[in-house]
Amino acid sequence: MPVHGTVEAVMDTLEGAKEVAKVIRQSGYLLEKSDLKRVLADLTASVSEAKMELTLLQDVIEEKDAELIRMHEAIVYRGNLKRRGDGYYKTLDGRPFGQPYCSYCWEKDSHLFHLHNKILSRDTRVCPHCKNEYQAVRTPFLDAVNVA
Ligand SMILES: [Zn+2]
Repeated sequence: MPVHGTVEAVMDTLEGAKEVAKVIRQSGYLLEKSDLKRVLADLTASVSEAKMELTLLQDVIEEKDAELIRMHEAIVYRGNLKRRGDGYYKTLDGRPFGQPYCSYCWEKDSHLFHLHNKILSRDTRVCPHCKNEYQAVRTPFLDAVNVA
């Protein structure tokens, strides 16, 4: 059985429909009512399975589309991000400003996650995604006003 959500899986489900056609043809187009019921049930099952596989395939395509959009954003951001201390920042005229992004997530997967202040701690920032912790002093908020 092929992996779900693939073209191969869809083709596999359609084999069932081809099998029904073969049975009807081989009977000389003359089937008993009970046999006809059975092959029609097989045909319905094949069509249902094909529908399910197409839905799964659609999900796979939508995931890939989302990944392409995200990668495009990463390319756009790549030229506009600068590392400072332990974080990455957007830049204005080449100077970093604003809230820092997790350097681990950016360098590993090109994902941008703002660091959050750790609850009950002024000295520690944490990435909501990878849970890495950073010293707040090494990942400050950089005011855009001081940049210009
Ligand atoms: Zn992270």
